[in-house]
Amino acid sequence: MGRTRPTRTTIRTAVRATAGGLVVVTAAIIGTLVHRSASSSPPSFGEARRGEHVAPTSDADGAVTEADGALPDAVTVFDEEHPGVGNLDRDLLGALREAATDAADDGIELSVNSGWRSPEYQDQLLREAVSEHGSEAEAARWVATADTSAHVSGNAVDIGPFDATAWLSEHGAAYGLCQIYGNEPWHYELRPEAIERGCPAPYADPTQDPRMQQ
Ligand SMILES: [Zn+2]
Repeated sequence: MGRTRPTRTTIRTAVRATAGGLVVVTAAIIGTLVHRSASSSPPSFGEARRGEHVAPTSDADGAVTEADGALPDAVTVFDEEHPGVGNLDRDLLGALREAATDAADDGIELSVNSGWRSPEYQDQLLREAVSEHGSEAEAARWVATADTSAHVSGNAVDIGPFDATAWLSEHGAAYGLCQIYGNEPWHYELRPEAIERGCPAPYADPTQDPRMQQ
């Protein structure tokens, strides 16, 4: 018996130390995961993942169709039979077509992953983003409301694939095509003054955009 107590204490201490170690390790892992998801996790909805196409999903309220602006893969800025392209602002579309023509000379094809969207489509994307990101505040960093979205007004496009957005980031200003948000390298809008002055500095994310404060 004389030896049992110290042994038990030793074991208990060892277990406690191990548990403490586990907590530290677990916290470190969680910290890494949280950091990784906060810093680089791309949005799954509304904005294309690094310029890749994200197929729209439907929910109980009814499927989003091409009439709402949903687009199949590999749609170009010339394919205006799709409402997602055809309902874009004409000046934006014109600038995109000029850019796409010149990009093609460099062997780059611009695809429209998302363009004009109906308010219903935008609402659905926002609901999905809230579900995905866990809160309206976090979702607002990625998806605007139907009232504020430049997609709904036909004044924004999400371009892909990656080499096309890379081409636009280098050459877009010459066509008045500017990246608006630092966290969305695929999202372009028309800023005609950029042709002479260059694009304005992008907002960090949509929550910094005064247009979103409505
Ligand atoms: Zn966009």
